Amino acid sequence: MSIASGVAPDLRGLLLPELEEVAERLGEPRYRGRQLARWLYARGATTADEMTDLPHGFRARLRRDARISALALRRAETSPGGAATKFLVACEDGQTVECVLMRFDDGRRSACLSTQAGCAMGCAFCATGRGGFARNLSAGEIIGQALLIRAHADRRVSHAVFMGMGEPLANYDATVRAARILAAPHGCGIGMRHLTISTVGLVPQIHRLARERLQLVLAVSLHAPTDALRERLVPVNHRYPLADLLAACRAYVAETHRRITLEYVLIDGVNDGDAEARQLARLVRGLNCHVNLIPLNPVPGVPFARPPVERVRAFARVVRGQGIPVTVRIERGVEIQAACGQLRLRDGQGRPSRWTR
Ligand code: SAH
Ligand code: SF4
Repeated sequence: MSIASGVAPDLRGLLLPELEEVAERLGEPRYRGRQLARWLYARGATTADEMTDLPHGFRARLRRDARISALALRRAETSPGGAATKFLVACEDGQTVECVLMRFDDGRRSACLSTQAGCAMGCAFCATGRGGFARNLSAGEIIGQALLIRAHADRRVSHAVFMGMGEPLANYDATVRAARILAAPHGCGIGMRHLTISTVGLVPQIHRLARERLQLVLAVSLHAPTDALRERLVPVNHRYPLADLLAACRAYVAETHRRITLEYVLIDGVNDGDAEARQLARLVRGLNCHVNLIPLNPVPGVPFARPPVERVRAFARVVRGQGIPVTVRIERGVEIQAACGQLRLRDGQGRPSRWTR
């Protein structure tokens, strides 16, 4: 990333002190770094030429010695009710990822961001997992998605969730860097408390993230209350079984004083019984957490179904009855968030869309 090393840095992935350093190395005063940050993150500039209050010479040096990673919009689809618009974007090397603008009735706008092209974790019910892993995204490519979403939003984007394609904590450095840029006052202006990182449960990285003491929300994808069942759905459970994962969650809460979110995708006849609900409640008792139930979004070719609404409600009732705070992601929300990975998968396979272009 350093200009000295001869590799042109991607300005879009840099924090303010690093932009100030770039300015200095290119012979400008440090305060030019702040101008750069404003152009990059507040205004979403895609070229140095747009930065009209910078001296010509500096702009020329930026063109020569630095770059701004580009994302090309390939497709945009809006859900039937208008609650979400999904974007398929291509990176400079042609890798495609999805990101989503979510619109909530209370006016909130949230950006759902991908952290990897594909995913290596292979969860049994996930469209992204089925597509395999291509590569990590850079911080600039993650920020680029947020900027693209913001440019298409009708209101201020106040929240962002790392719940698109990929496992954020398997791309730790770029993810945390992107979170810091999104939350920085000179960055995209989304408060750290309005950021959520969702992880499949990579235990060492949860411990590492705890030490960063960021005020963001950590969401852990649990999906099953026993190792036997979780191994079937989330293969990484072989490496990090529930006892280790729950210990990491407890350590995270102790270190950060932040309540953790536990995500639980409900799959018809697989993990949605009253017995599992009681086991889940026992498993998480005493942990400062909130359980988010996500009725499965069916994936073509995957033999899992979404449970009936009554089953979802009954599951929630049992968990709540045990004193565990629980919410159900509304149907529309399911379609919005959990559908990540499906646009890309479908694009490759030419399946018809339920969404409109
Ligand atoms: N890799 C991270 C973040 C991306 S997935 C993780 O697994 O947590 C974001 C959330 O969507 C996860 O909780 C994931 O389990 C869930 N998800 C994936 N496929 C889904 C599907 N078909 N239906 C419902 N939720 C799904
Ligand atoms: Fe990867 Fe998350 Fe999908 Fe699992 S659910 S395959 S970790 S994106």
